[in-house]
Amino acid sequence: MNVADTERAATGLRNAGYELTASAEAADVVLFNTCSVRERAEQKVFTRIGEVRHQAQHSGKRGKPLIGVMGCVAQLEGDAIFQNTPAVDLIIGTRATDRIPSLIERARGGEADVIDLGERQEGEFWEVSPAERRSPYVAFVPIIEGCNKFCSFCIVPYSRGREKSRSALEIVAEVQRLRSFGYKEVHLIGQNVNSYRPLSPEGLERYAGATAFSRLLRAVADTGMQRIKFTTSFPRDFHPDIVAALEECPNLCDWIHLPVQSGSNRILKAMRRGHSTDDYLRRVDAIRGSKRRLSLTSDIIVGFPGESEDDFEDTMRLVRACEYDGLFIFKYSKRTGTPAAMLADAVPEGEKTARFLALEELQSSLQNKIYNDYTGRTVSVLVERESARSSEDMTGHSTCHKVVNFRSQQTAPGEIVDVLISQAKPYSLYGELMSGRAA
Ligand code: SAM
Repeated sequence: MNVADTERAATGLRNAGYELTASAEAADVVLFNTCSVRERAEQKVFTRIGEVRHQAQHSGKRGKPLIGVMGCVAQLEGDAIFQNTPAVDLIIGTRATDRIPSLIERARGGEADVIDLGERQEGEFWEVSPAERRSPYVAFVPIIEGCNKFCSFCIVPYSRGREKSRSALEIVAEVQRLRSFGYKEVHLIGQNVNSYRPLSPEGLERYAGATAFSRLLRAVADTGMQRIKFTTSFPRDFHPDIVAALEECPNLCDWIHLPVQSGSNRILKAMRRGHSTDDYLRRVDAIRGSKRRLSLTSDIIVGFPGESEDDFEDTMRLVRACEYDGLFIFKYSKRTGTPAAMLADAVPEGEKTARFLALEELQSSLQNKIYNDYTGRTVSVLVERESARSSEDMTGHSTCHKVVNFRSQQTAPGEIVDVLISQAKPYSLYGELMSGRAA
């Protein structure tokens, strides 16, 4: 989501006549796009601002660069940032992306402490210029922003506001355009993509489905885009019709990211997730029961306030049962302003680390088995770049979103190739290019 926001900000800036530079030293304006999901991410930005400020003072360049903070930290901390970090000139909230050029103009015109934490305006421009996209082959397409779930640990509803879905007509038109520009893969993105609920059904009329999201999946598949991925899915809103859509449309990729957060019903309740472990496992059954082998990944928080040894054992049990293809494990981080921040019974840091490591070890043994099962199988890979490890190898992602490395044999980024897997590594697969190449 942050990458997509940066691309949007860059599009607006370029349209307004700004040039983008890769180095902060060369810049007249430096914008920091920020994340506040965990405390560490939030702290990083202030360290980085200090570094840029220091470099500017010692670079001999005349005049200091304007410094702006955009994104979640800007939205949450607002003008307190001006007090705590006087080097900052501009604060740009999460819904002010389109107004960045005019905010910069105000600051350049001499206005001090320019701040915009306002709402989005009608008719906002979502389109991102291909020149500003991080990859010429894989594009992020936001379909919904904000969050209405209010999980007790999570800052997102406060930093990104309520859920707002983009029109299906606009999404489909963007994917069609991306296809005509040569993009091979799109990621439909949002905090909870499957809570997609546009104001009007325009653009979905021709597509059946139990929910607006599964209709949208079919509509996007109908554009002929070669690979379509989507993330993140929220368990409570996960309808089995999503699995049906994946079975009908081969260009909907075989990967589902479905964060569970905990395997203990007591903790899930305290997290206000709105689902129990049984509810979650029913969704997993629908995914595992599919005719296609669907890759399943998840997020888990360890050390939520009050999490006992037994609660943690429940999480270990659930992870064993789900056999995830991949797992993002987070140590609970207290976020001021969230209901969980008021809970007593904090888990000591050392205990959080011990649980993190135990879960990581379990996941790596389960993952080894899953990755080993890929040996001898052929996967379709979108080639992204030369491997960092060896100039003779290329790297890319499979449709099931695994990193795959293979001996390059003159393949080029942007090609889709078939790779026969010969070796499983802890977080990647290695294989040989199949003759005939194209998948
Ligand atoms: N909306 C998605 C959901 O909740 O299903 C995920 C959004 S969140 C940006 C990504 C992940 O960060 C979450 O799934 C959660 O595991 C983790 N996370 C969020 N708040 C956290 C916190 N306070 N401490 C630790 N991890 C956190």
